[in-house]
Amino acid sequence: MSWEVVIGLEVHVQLNTQSKIFCNCPTRYGAEPNRHTCPVCLALPGALPVLNAAAVDKAIAFGLAVGAEIHQRSVFARKNYFYPDLPKGYQISQYEIPIVGRGQLALTLADGTEKIVGITRAHLEEDAGKSLHEAFSAETGIDLNRAGTPLLEIVSEPDMRSPAEAVAYLKKLHALVRYLDISDGNMQEGSFRCDANVSLRRPGEPFGTRAEIKNLNSFRFLEKAIEYEMERQQDLLESGAEVVQETRLFDANKGETRSMRSKEEANDYRYFPDPDLLPLVLEPAQIEAVRASLPELPDARKRRFMEQYALPAYDAGVLTSSRALADYYEVVAEGVDAKLAANWIMGDLLGALNRSNGEIESCPVTAEQMRRLLQRIEDQTISGKIAKDVFEVLFEKGEDVDTIIERKGLRQITDVEAITKLIDAVLAKNPGQVADYRSGKEKLFGFFVGQVMKASQGKANPEQLNRLLRERLDNPS
Ligand code: ADP
Ligand code: MG
Ligand code: ZN
Repeated sequence: MSWEVVIGLEVHVQLNTQSKIFCNCPTRYGAEPNRHTCPVCLALPGALPVLNAAAVDKAIAFGLAVGAEIHQRSVFARKNYFYPDLPKGYQISQYEIPIVGRGQLALTLADGTEKIVGITRAHLEEDAGKSLHEAFSAETGIDLNRAGTPLLEIVSEPDMRSPAEAVAYLKKLHALVRYLDISDGNMQEGSFRCDANVSLRRPGEPFGTRAEIKNLNSFRFLEKAIEYEMERQQDLLESGAEVVQETRLFDANKGETRSMRSKEEANDYRYFPDPDLLPLVLEPAQIEAVRASLPELPDARKRRFMEQYALPAYDAGVLTSSRALADYYEVVAEGVDAKLAANWIMGDLLGALNRSNGEIESCPVTAEQMRRLLQRIEDQTISGKIAKDVFEVLFEKGEDVDTIIERKGLRQITDVEAITKLIDAVLAKNPGQVADYRSGKEKLFGFFVGQVMKASQGKANPEQLNRLLRERLDNPS
């Protein structure tokens, strides 16, 4: 009998506020170490925290977007532990009463089915600083620029049942926080990172003991870490041993997880309400104001794309997977056939971006140029095939579509006389094939199309070519 994996994720999202959560220091990434610090985030004696209202609004926005209850009263607590990059000796976090309660996220799985994953809670907290081990030999540097950056920790129910479901959930969450513009979602810089809780059980039995894999900062690492963990736990269970509850680290180079600390050595955080901060009390009007400012959310936008543009669910899902891509699509589709636009963006454009490791946000082809290109197919200036060549130039050099078409002489030949001339030349050159065709070898039609197209350097209008060629072949002069 096989094993079933049970997965719950804890995701840390860095909120993209201008300043830190309890002081005025900027949150900008990449400054010289310890430049963005002040008495509050350096934990100098007597300095007092003041809550950043923008961080609160971003947490509310998230809660509303996942249909969660927003707690009108929540409490900041001190989570006590010692670490060099935590100058206060405690982290301010929400514990018993978080700002966001139970909500849910709907995923579309690879086979098209929908799955609902429960969200247990989401709470506000401050990030710690960073220990720099690589910059010095035998010494550790401390950079407190990140200390006090606002985080939203989003905790899921143990609802996922495969690595693929966990990845789908994390991707959906990632897209959502970027739609809401509450985080830049930059995974390399650590703005969006996740801890995976993984256990195995026999289907139908109670949950098994879990291991928690810390700080995964890519979708692929999440998948690999869970896969490794499933094998490790299966080996343990099948050899009669037990899984111990512990925290593990994923080593991306080796593709394996290793123990960091067990439950016995786990910290006792001695949580208690922070006496420096009043409970956070929200007025209904504040919540409603955030609700009114929410953008169209991914699921709603997908549904609208299916209706307004008559797109299949798959296309609508891909095109709304990020807000920037959906915006791009809507600019293109404004002027051309909606399905043509979808095909080109999902195929040629995303393919080219993928190959060049690019992002839609910095795409060398603007949406306006993409629309112009498709308009030139529709108005028959160029064929769909030539358009692929124009697209390549566009993607490489970012020129203007019409300039490329003129400069390279790609304008489609729609002139009946010119096409007829090309046809006659091809027929004159291949009398044998013409005779064969006329005596019933109809398959040869494709051969003639190819020859004429070649003679036109790919520029003959395909429909006209077909029509005129058929006329010529069927009516010997
Ligand atoms: P902690 O506070 O110790 O991290 P929680 O009970 O808050 O523990 O759970 C943290 C995460 O672990 C949640 O995402 C939850 O869904 C997940 N989880 C809990 N039990 C299991 C289990 N048996 N297997 C897998 N994940 C689990
Ligand atoms: Mg945990
Ligand atoms: Zn500060």
